[in-house]
This record gives sequence, C-alpha cells and structure tokens, in this order.
Amino acid sequence: MAKLIYKRRVNNKLDTNNLIKNLAKDLKLEEYKVQLCFDKLSLDYDDEYLNKNYSLSKELVCCYYAILDDYIRDDEARLEFDSNIKRFDEVYIDTAPLIHEDWFLYFIANASLTLRKRRKKLVILEKTMEEMYGISFNEEKDLDVRLRAKVRPFLIQKLARKGLIKRVDTGSIGIADDHLVALLKKRGKTNNILLITQDRYLSERVVQLGENLNKNIELPHHTLFDRFRQGKFVDEDIVKKVVVCELLKNGDLLRLYICQHCGDSYYDKLFDCEGYVICSSCYYEIENAKQKHKAIKEREEAKRLKEIKEIEEKREIEEEIITVGKKIKKKQRLTYSIVIIALALILALTFIFI
Ligand SMILES: [Zn+2]
Repeated sequence: MAKLIYKRRVNNKLDTNNLIKNLAKDLKLEEYKVQLCFDKLSLDYDDEYLNKNYSLSKELVCCYYAILDDYIRDDEARLEFDSNIKRFDEVYIDTAPLIHEDWFLYFIANASLTLRKRRKKLVILEKTMEEMYGISFNEEKDLDVRLRAKVRPFLIQKLARKGLIKRVDTGSIGIADDHLVALLKKRGKTNNILLITQDRYLSERVVQLGENLNKNIELPHHTLFDRFRQGKFVDEDIVKKVVVCELLKNGDLLRLYICQHCGDSYYDKLFDCEGYVICSSCYYEIENAKQKHKAIKEREEAKRLKEIKEIEEKREIEEEIITVGKKIKKKQRLTYSIVIIALALILALTFIFI
C-alpha cells in the first residue's frame, strides 16, 4: 500500500521533470523507481549538475538497481576478461578503482560472467567500504566522486546477494592499504591473487610481497619415474603469483611490474610472468651497451686480422726475395761450373795436341 501511495505521489510530482522521464525510458524502469533511487540517495532531480551530467545520473540509477547491461562489452573483450581473470583464485579491489569514473561498472559487468562461470568472487574489505563511506561525505572531494562513493555500496550489496562479491572484515584500525597487504601476505602463500588498485605505492608494496612469498617456496624434486608417470609438471601451479593491476577505462586492466635493473615500476599488459621484469628503457640501454661492446670487439678483431695479414704478406715477400736470391746464386754456380769445365777441357785438349 505504501508503495502504491509513493508511486502515485511521485507520478504527480514528476510530470514536468525530463531527467526522471528520460532515465526511466532509457533504463526501461518505471518513473517512480527512478525517483525512489534519487530519494534514497538524497538527490534532487531538479539539481542543475545532475541534469547537465546525464551519464552520471544514469550511472547512479544503474548502480542503485545493479543494471549493468549497458556496460557489457563485445564477445572479444569478454574473452580477454576471462583469460585475464580465470587464472586467479581470488580478486581483490581497493577503494579508488571502485569510484573512479564508471570503470568499475565496466569491470564487474564483464568480469561477473567469468566470476559466475568459474565460481569465484570479487573480494572487498569492510575497511574499503568504510573508506568509501568517508569519501561520500568529504567536501574536499569532487561532487561526482562523492556521489559515486555514495551509490556504490548499493551495487556492492546487490552483487554480494548474487554471490559475485564477498565482503571480508579485517577490523577497522589503520588504513585499508595495510589491511590489504596483511591479508595478501596470508592468502598469497596458497592462492593466485589479483589486486586491483590505482595506488602505485601500494602496488609496489604488493608486487614486492609477491616476490618474497615466491622466494620461500621449495619446488618438489621430480624423479625420473615421476616424469615418466605424469608426463609433464607445471611448476606455476606450485609457485603462486600475487599480481597487481590498475583499472582503466572500459574496465581494462594494466599490470604493474618492477624493473630488476633500475628498480622503477611501470605498467604494461597482463602477461603470465613474474612481477620483476626489466623495463624497456633499461632493456634498450643494455642492448645498446651490448651492441657497442660487440662493435668494439669486431673492430679489434678486424685490426688483429689485418695485422696478421700484413705480417703474412711481408713474410711471403721476404721468402720470395730469398728464393729468387737462391735461384740466382744457383744459376751463377752452374755458370761458373760450366766455365771451369770448359776451361779444363780447353786446357786438356791443348796439352793433348801440343
Ligand atoms: Zn629499468
């Protein structure tokens, strides 16, 4: 009955308001339902800001009723979501990505298909919910951020009822970052974990944590018999990964890596590898140094070969001179011998005839 009275009262009031009419038409909702959402969020449908920012107003109603159809992307994008998320046992999300633009709506609309199919849940800490509540009243924040912080709990509650989100209570002392790090330290030993956060410092802390967790894992020794029996071993099933991503427009993810050479962090696509990977500038720097070193070595080798060749040529010339000299001497000796023999013959013949 109360619902009916509310509906009649609202319908009488709404005759002149285009925002409510347009939203109702757009989202295929009854007008009183859109008005109910505005009332629950303590919003005025005549508010100039909301009328000017239709997409934000629509997002608020979508969140309140968990209507995510407009945020589902094409099949190809959904397949990419699936391949990115399926490898993780647990997916955690920090406060900032939940309220940054409408990116979380895209993420959950597309990821929910994978989460449902693979019986996984997105984990949100109660501490994160607490932070979001604080932001919704923080006058220093922009109005759109405050509105998003206000409406997201309605969406999270509805998705939790559908079994897509799990809320975890880790207490309320301290900041959410420390709660996440402490929880991931515990869960990361036995689970593949994905953390979605816009906070670079937290991301670096968690990537470092993941690396330290992996260091202490002892891989089993596979005997020849084991290899024969099982065919192949997948060590990545034993070494668990803690991966950190930033949420982007349309719900896309970009992973944070730390360069093992310069120690700086950077974002790149989500590859199935460790968190410490050399950055592109260090890679090119090392490659350039290698190329330079190679060029120097090649020049030195060319110089060495040239010197050897010159020595060889000199030796050949010298040998040739010696050979020619020997030949001349031999010829001279032969000539002398012939002359001597001839003289001897002449002398002998002279004595005979005398
Ligand atoms: Zn680097």
